[in-house]
Amino acid sequence: MPRTSRPMQVLPIVLREVEVTGIADITPNMRRLTVAGDQLSAGVVNGMPRPQFHSEGFDDHVKLVIPTPETESVDIGEQGEFRFKWNREALGFTRDYTVSSVDADANSFTFDVVRHDSGLASEWAFSASIGDSLKFAGPKTSAGLSEGVDFHLLVADETALPAVRRWLETAPADTSGHIIVEVPTAEDIQEISTAADVEINWLIRSGTSPGDSTLMYEAVKNMELPAGRTYAWCAGEALTIAPIRRHLRRELGLPKEDVEVIGYWRKTAKKTEAAADEIAGDATSETATPLAAASQDAAADGVTTAGVDEFAEVSESSQSIVSNVHEMTEILPPIITRIAVTLGVGDLVAGGITTAEAIAAEVGIDTEGAGVVLTAMCALGLLERDGAAYLNTQAGAVLIGDGAGDGLNLDDPAIRDLFSIVNLLDILRNGHIDMPAPAEALTSAGEALTSTLTAPTWRAQRAVDAALDTAHRSHTLDHLRYVLDIILELEPIATAASVALAGDAGAEVSAALTRKAPESGRSVHIPGAASVAGEQSWPAVDCTLMLAGLTGRSRPEAKALLACILESSASLVVVEPLTDEAELDDHQAEELVATYAMTGNASWTSEELCQCLSDLGAVAVEVVDIGWGFGRFRSAVIARRP
Ligand SMILES: Cc1cc2nc3c(=O)[nH]c(=O)nc-3n(C[C@H](O)[C@H](O)[C@H](O)COP(=O)(O)OP(=O)(O)OC[C@H]3O[C@@H](n4cnc5c(N)ncnc54)[C@H](O)[C@@H]3O)c2cc1C
Repeated sequence: MPRTSRPMQVLPIVLREVEVTGIADITPNMRRLTVAGDQLSAGVVNGMPRPQFHSEGFDDHVKLVIPTPETESVDIGEQGEFRFKWNREALGFTRDYTVSSVDADANSFTFDVVRHDSGLASEWAFSASIGDSLKFAGPKTSAGLSEGVDFHLLVADETALPAVRRWLETAPADTSGHIIVEVPTAEDIQEISTAADVEINWLIRSGTSPGDSTLMYEAVKNMELPAGRTYAWCAGEALTIAPIRRHLRRELGLPKEDVEVIGYWRKTAKKTEAAADEIAGDATSETATPLAAASQDAAADGVTTAGVDEFAEVSESSQSIVSNVHEMTEILPPIITRIAVTLGVGDLVAGGITTAEAIAAEVGIDTEGAGVVLTAMCALGLLERDGAAYLNTQAGAVLIGDGAGDGLNLDDPAIRDLFSIVNLLDILRNGHIDMPAPAEALTSAGEALTSTLTAPTWRAQRAVDAALDTAHRSHTLDHLRYVLDIILELEPIATAASVALAGDAGAEVSAALTRKAPESGRSVHIPGAASVAGEQSWPAVDCTLMLAGLTGRSRPEAKALLACILESSASLVVVEPLTDEAELDDHQAEELVATYAMTGNASWTSEELCQCLSDLGAVAVEVVDIGWGFGRFRSAVIARRP
């Protein structure tokens, strides 16, 4: 979820089982299901606390495990403390639905399902019976309305109508806004009562198929926003709403944090024979790499040895091993996806700027270069061509939007910094930047992709490069959003009357610490560079919270800082991008390698950190899980002074 100005609660993800207790067709193409059961109340699952089902936000959603004969026999997963560890196979049977309303007294909630041609969830809902059981998880987050907003714009197709309905039913009387909703037929218009001062514009798609209409875009383009701050929320079919996002951000100039455009479903293209031919042709292309050729050899083996089924299976698996390795060697996808996002190609195409010349002119690059990028995007299936015009594919639509840009945009100095990874070979052979040869290599080759290093260490570089420092802090903050509430509830922090902060995200975390202070109050200290460097003593506090504060420090430097903190702080909570599972998890491996390449120092494992703290004399050192078990911050290490 991209960062928005809406206040967000992060909730533990719990799998629950309920029963269908109500079925009502509220319009010809929308069915409301009521589900209820004891598992919506607080209790204990697998020895872990199960909180009460909770949903306050208008667009909160649950993940339904759609009951089918297959799901009966599939192992859905395992309940953890904050998250449900999904079995990958089971995820294929899940679909997201908005919580339409909650009745806490009756231990029930409702959700509304759109009828469409054929789909697992839709078919199940339109043949469900009272008494059917249903498993679901969530909501995992619940976001309120942004404060200080003068005007709300909501744009939705029928899949997002349940969210719009909940918004209207719960919006306070002094809220004003404009609502645009596209529905299949006039009979699908709903009566919705609201205290808010809003105009509702119903758009009837009539004969046009879902996902093919431009009605919502036209309506947004034709409206004028009043003066003041507008918050815009839009959800529907991913490709249909892409131009709306562009219009809101670029034409109307709404800031990123006040625009939320979310793809609720994707229209699946029917595979044409031509496309199938193209794919087949690609596999025998003359430009195939040696590994691709090896893959074909393996396939050929499969053919010659066919006739014995087990043999065929062995060949298939060796073929897939080779093609997996082949995939790993591809250099184009990670580069082209980032270049496409950084230049905003998908966005431009969605906004009607569709030729190489027009895109080049808009972005300010030469047409030949634009042509190269567009051709590569077609080859990767992100764009398709119609004469001189390029069109986004469903795959391309995934890259449109602020959420995608957050992690891939090379104009962000912190993301660009990760590209130090391309210098890994030089760093391995010659050491990090304080060695003359790689320093030159970094400056000449690195200027294009990595930040220009002028200081002796990455930390020193951050101290002199405000944009780089801000970008890294913001990167940390993005990841913290999902775990901060849990961190602040850890015992040493929750009870502390004085807290010192080390590492990133100081100001924001300081504000959260103050909001969540014990009744007796709390002082928050952000020690300066002299304390961090050990030139001044650390403030005497009940607890120090360190957030990504070890990243980029050498082991001796990190150890000295931890020692200095433990001298003055009764307890210490360290939240770092620990890479305990790097051998099994490619995201952690990327963190490990990128951090090493970027800073010259590897990231930590919890085992190494616990050992280091114990060596420094800390007691009761423990590792606790925080959050949902993915992302950069998965666990915290807690230590206490004896
Ligand atoms: C956060 C969130 C909240 C959502 N809330 C709701 C909600 O409250 N009510 C609701 O009805 N939907 C909601 N959706 C959308 C819903 O999850 C999708 O439409 C989902 O794909 C439907 O699953 P299915 O099994 O019926 O179809 P799938 O098996 O996913 O798809 C089968 C085929 O149907 C097409 N298809 C899928 N959905 C539609 C559609 N709506 N109209 C036409 N064709 C479609 C697909 O392109 C595909 O070709 C929400 C989605 C998200 C991400």
